[in-house]
Amino acid sequence: MKKICIIGGGISGLTTAFLLKRKGFAVTVYEASAAAGGNIQTIRKDGFTIEQGPNSLLKAPRLIDLVRLLDLEKKVIAAAENANKRYILADGKLEAMGPKSFVNGYFSLGTVFSLIREPFVRSKSPENESVADFVTRRLNAEFLDKAIDPFVSGVYAGDPRNLSMRSAFPKLYEMERDFGSLIMGTLRRKVEKPDPNFPKTFSFEGGLKTLIDALAAEIGDGLHLSTPVGSIETLENGKFSVNGAEFDAVVVSTPSYVAADLIGNRDERLARLLGGVNYPQVAVVVFGVESSKIEKTLDGFGFLIPSKEKRPILGTLFHSAVFPERAPRGFQLLMTFVGGVRAGKQLDEKSDAELKTLVAAELSKIIGLRGEPDFVHIKRWKRAIPQYRVGYEEVTKACADFEKRNAGLYFCSNFYRGISMSDCVKNAFETAGEIESFLSR
Ligand SMILES: Cc1cc2nc3c(=O)[nH]c(=O)nc-3n(C[C@H](O)[C@H](O)[C@H](O)COP(=O)(O)OP(=O)(O)OC[C@H]3O[C@@H](n4cnc5c(N)ncnc54)[C@H](O)[C@@H]3O)c2cc1C
Repeated sequence: MKKICIIGGGISGLTTAFLLKRKGFAVTVYEASAAAGGNIQTIRKDGFTIEQGPNSLLKAPRLIDLVRLLDLEKKVIAAAENANKRYILADGKLEAMGPKSFVNGYFSLGTVFSLIREPFVRSKSPENESVADFVTRRLNAEFLDKAIDPFVSGVYAGDPRNLSMRSAFPKLYEMERDFGSLIMGTLRRKVEKPDPNFPKTFSFEGGLKTLIDALAAEIGDGLHLSTPVGSIETLENGKFSVNGAEFDAVVVSTPSYVAADLIGNRDERLARLLGGVNYPQVAVVVFGVESSKIEKTLDGFGFLIPSKEKRPILGTLFHSAVFPERAPRGFQLLMTFVGGVRAGKQLDEKSDAELKTLVAAELSKIIGLRGEPDFVHIKRWKRAIPQYRVGYEEVTKACADFEKRNAGLYFCSNFYRGISMSDCVKNAFETAGEIESFLSR
C-alpha cells in the first residue's frame, strides 16, 4: 500500500489525509501541537461555546461534499436568518448594508452612478494591481472606503492598498478578465452552484471543532499529535523520509514560515518567498454579556469598521445572534477583533486587561454595552492570516513550479490558493486527486 505523509493537522492537512485514506492509501499526519485543527479552535467555558479562530462556514460545493462524506449533515447548524444583515460603522453609527444603502444616503449619488457605469469601464487589471486600485478603477474611492475596506478587514485583517487583487480575490479578477465587468460576470459566469437546500452560512453542534473531531476520528491512529516535523529527506530509492519513516508522497500543510524551513534544502528562493509572507497579529476578544446590558438589538451577523473611522477595533460578531446555542439563555456572546495589518505590533504592548477595557469602551459607544462583561476570554494570534500582498503571484507560481520539479511533494495550506476554510477544503480535494494520479502512474 502506498504511504503518504501529511505535515500539519489543520483543516487543509486533515481533509487531504481523510480523502487519501478513503482512496485506499496509508496516511500519516504529523501535527506539531497537542490538538488537531490548526486555526480551528473551539472551546467551551462557563456555558459558552467559543470559536477562538474562524467562526462559521460559507457553503461551497466541495465543503458540502466533505460534510456528507463525514456523515455530519445531522450536526449542521444553519445561521439564524438575520445573519444576512451586516452592519458597517459610519460616523460612529451602525448602518445596515444592503440595496437600501444606495438610496438612503449611505453611498453618494456618485457611487450609484459608478455602479451603473461599471459594465462600460473598458480598462483591464494591469500586473500587480492592488485591491484598492482595482476597486477605484472600476468603481470609486467611496465604494472602496465604505464597503471594500471593512470587508477586507473582516476577511484578511488586511489593507486593500497592499493586497493583490488577483491573488486575494481571484474570482472577481477573473470576472473582469473574462467578461470585462464585475456586474456582467456575476450575471453570465457559469459556476458549479452549491446545493440550494444546504444552509448558506453554517456551523455544527459543538462548533467547528466537530468537523475537526470527525476528520481526526476517520484518520484514526494515522494522526500523530505533538509530533513536529523538522525536515523532509529524499532517499536513494526516490522515496521520502520524514520523522524516520518512509513515504511515497509528502504534503506540506503547515503555515508558510514553517514550509520555508521544510523545503529550504531544495529551493532557497522559494524558502525566502515563503519566509517573507506577512501574517499580522490579531486578538479575538470574546465577551459573554447578559442581554439586558446591551441597548442595541443584536439582529445581524455583526459589524465591521472602515479604517477611515479610525477606531482601535476591526469589528465585532454578534455570535450568539447567529448561533443562539453558543451562549446560555439570557446571555450574548460577542467576538471582537483587534489588530490586523494596520495595527502592526501594537497588540504586543497591550495587556489582556487593557484589551478588555478598550473593547468594553468601544462596545459601550457602538452597541450601548452597559457595565462590565460577565465573561471574558482573549485569544491572541501572533501570526493570524497570510497576506496575499501585491506581487503574491510570484509566491504561488514558485510553489507550483516547485511541485512540478519535485514529483511527490505538494503544498496544501492557506498560503496557497485561498485562505477561507472552503478554499482549503477545495484545495485538499484537488491535492488528493493529484496524488492519486501521480501514485497510480
Ligand atoms: C482569527 C481567525 C478568524 C478566521 N475566520 C474565518 C472564518 O470565519 N471563515 C473562514 O472560512 N476562514 C476563517 N479564517 C481562516 C481559516 O481559519 C484558515 O485559513 C484555515 O483554518 C487554515 O487552515 P490550514 O490547515 O491551511 O492551516 P492551519 O490551520 O494554520 O494549520 C497548520 C497546522 O500545521 C501545524 N504545524 C506547524 N508547524 C508544524 C511542524 N513543523 N510539523 C507539523 N505540524 C506543524 C500547526 O500546528 C497547524 O495545526 C480565520 C482565521 C483566523 C486566524
